[in-house]
Amino acid sequence: MTFDEYQKQAITTDTFGGKPQPITSMAFISKLLGLVGEAGEVADKFKKVYRDDESELTPEKLELMKKELGDVLWYISVMGSYLGLSLEDIAQLNLDKLSDRKARGVLKGSGDNR
Ligand SMILES: [Mg+2]
Repeated sequence: MTFDEYQKQAITTDTFGGKPQPITSMAFISKLLGLVGEAGEVADKFKKVYRDDESELTPEKLELMKKELGDVLWYISVMGSYLGLSLEDIAQLNLDKLSDRKARGVLKGSGDNR
């Protein structure tokens, strides 16, 4: 499955069908908050593994992480669709950015435009 195939399928499960939405719309804002919430769920699951399970990532816990990471991917896909952005393009731009940073030896450090 390609990223674009995933995005096309993901938006079929969005109540707004992935149609373009203004950033001030309830549709967009709810997805933005949902993305942050799902990222928080990922962090919370890891917190519990560190806190309660001596950092042992069992196959069952790994499956839970996979589901939460998938939720993050879904929100990114739908938000991208609202903005008219292809998930394939988002993924490629990210890889291009990181490859460029690697080539210039600035993978570590801070700043969006390093
Ligand atoms: Mg979730």
